[in-house]
Amino acid sequence: MKKDFDEKSLAQKLVSEIDRLTKPLGRKIRFMEVCGTHTVSIFRAGLRQMLPPQIELVSGPGCPVCVTPDDYMDKAIAYAREPDTIIATFGDMLKVPGSSSSLADAMAAGADIRIVYSPLDSLKIAKENPEKSVIFLAVGFETTAPTAAATVITAMRQGIKNFFALSAQKLIPPAMRMLLDDERTNVDGFLLPGHVAVVTGSDEFLFLPRDYGKPGVVAGFEAMEILRAVYRLAKMTASREPGIENEYDSVVTAGGNKAAQKMLYEVYEPIDTQWRGLGVIAQSGLRLRHEYAGFDIERVRPIEVDDAPGKEKSLCRCGEVLRGLTVPVECPLFARACTPEHAVGPCMVSVEGVCAAHYKYGGGTFQYGK
Ligand code: SF4
Repeated sequence: MKKDFDEKSLAQKLVSEIDRLTKPLGRKIRFMEVCGTHTVSIFRAGLRQMLPPQIELVSGPGCPVCVTPDDYMDKAIAYAREPDTIIATFGDMLKVPGSSSSLADAMAAGADIRIVYSPLDSLKIAKENPEKSVIFLAVGFETTAPTAAATVITAMRQGIKNFFALSAQKLIPPAMRMLLDDERTNVDGFLLPGHVAVVTGSDEFLFLPRDYGKPGVVAGFEAMEILRAVYRLAKMTASREPGIENEYDSVVTAGGNKAAQKMLYEVYEPIDTQWRGLGVIAQSGLRLRHEYAGFDIERVRPIEVDDAPGKEKSLCRCGEVLRGLTVPVECPLFARACTPEHAVGPCMVSVEGVCAAHYKYGGGTFQYGK
């Protein structure tokens, strides 16, 4: 009880400090939370409504499912339909729409698709089914890529020949650069992704103040941690002294997890890759290096897919939402044709998707920015 009271009182103090710091600027101040888990925490705690009216929090491209393009899903579905093939995937990929269907549709039609909780689970499936090809759908950011890399290394060491990966793993900093290079992006600072920073370290984001004059704060996921990070951003914005600060220093260091970084780059190399709604971003994807190419299903067994979006899907504005250029309620399909039960776009499928968060916590009528 006392803790709740103390936190409420501290939260009120932080909000009034944020107001005091930013009101004299006489304009809207926009901070982007890059990470989908932050988006959900912000909505769940009602932080947007709590902040002064001049502060806007906008969501960025940090939900891995949301930025996975149609053609990746189409390939996953096409592989799933092949005989003697098992797809191993995290559960949130099942309903992600491809051009015209989903893995859930393929599963209903008889494809062998198994839900895994770690990439290493797919090795167990491969060992238990030596006559079949097991394809792990490697989707995620720096947070999960080291574990996927460890799985590939283990498969090589154990001589597992029927395990493969279909990689759509991505790196966050190149996407942030791309957003800032786009003159339409209007963001004053970034709430930096805590989980990604555990691996990369906070120094990975020094390019923000150095190259773009923008501040960033690595934040944890509790409401108070996020609020303190917004306060720090407000302070740097008001003083016009951008830097990178770490509000999650219980787990994030300046240099990050060196062992995880070593494993990641031993197995993967950066390549240009497609992000849903953002286009191709230079050096933002991860591909298995030549030494591990035997585990890359696209190189071992290439597959062609036809990417032709349906009419309803072409109205999806997920790409603009992920750039912080619009909000879900501006999408003509939001809460009408597109709901979590019938998701048209990926931003509504994932629990970390901004459309799903608006729908769940905003009751379908959330007013952005007040
Ligand atoms: S509400 Fe649905 S259709 Fe609209 S942008 Fe979000 S995911 Fe796309």
